[in-house]
Amino acid sequence: MMEAGEKARYIVLFGPPGAGKGTQAKNVSKALDLPSVSTGEVFRWNLNNKTELGRSVEEFLSKGELVPDDLTIRMVRDTLDKPCYAKGVILDGFPRTLEQAAALAAIVSENDGRLQVIFIKVDENVLVERIMGRVVCRKCGKVYHRKYNPPPSPQAPCKAGGMHDLEQRKDDEEEIITNRIRVYNNQTAPLIDYFERGAYLTVVDGCLTIEEVSGAILDGLLEGTEAA
Ligand code: ADP
Ligand code: AMP
Repeated sequence: MMEAGEKARYIVLFGPPGAGKGTQAKNVSKALDLPSVSTGEVFRWNLNNKTELGRSVEEFLSKGELVPDDLTIRMVRDTLDKPCYAKGVILDGFPRTLEQAAALAAIVSENDGRLQVIFIKVDENVLVERIMGRVVCRKCGKVYHRKYNPPPSPQAPCKAGGMHDLEQRKDDEEEIITNRIRVYNNQTAPLIDYFERGAYLTVVDGCLTIEEVSGAILDGLLEGTEAA
């Protein structure tokens, strides 16, 4: 339940592919008791389950290109309309273009919410190694890294039931990674200026340990500007 006068919180975890958005979305979600949505995870689920949306996005995901704005924005709007997001949401991987950022601003304003953006800043030379070592549970979406955050055992329990079913993402292949980083630099990085101008942005150092980054994000959310 939301207290009277309390605003829905829209928290964006922003950064290049491999910065740690998905990892931190899960930690921050637990700490703030706020659900998280990863647009990439929703697209992958639809792809794996061969839905109509999955078929529409396949060509973009397989090349590391962005899914068109109209499709992405419609999917996000449909998701955030669900009652479980009435208190707010942690967004991982959205927005990624100026048009998506404008759509999010409209959603926040329609719901009289407040927007905070955390930019997880990581040097480009660290990203490829992070992504190449990433393994993800097919069932619950939990993210591990072979070296930096290894799963407790190959047979670790999964919160979706049974044991984790770990795999390497199909788009975590060197050529596609290079394109995803290029797409980030061309189409998504310009949003940093946009968020800065709206005074929504807090920058955290994403090269610290996973726990340290979680702490910095939670501190940033407490101290950060609360622009509506
Ligand atoms: P994104 O969602 O931004 O693409 P992920 O959260 O999937 O990034 O992280 C990419 C990879 O880097 C994963 O394998 C994850 O375990 C690892 N990772 C995330 N944060 C850190 C960190 N602070 N230090 C070292 N490895 C990290
Ligand atoms: P991610 O899981 O965030 O690394 O995203 C994986 C892929 O999903 C991206 O390379 C895009 O093809 C697609 N995708 C995820 N989020 C978006 C978005 N906000 N806009 C467009 N495409 C997206």
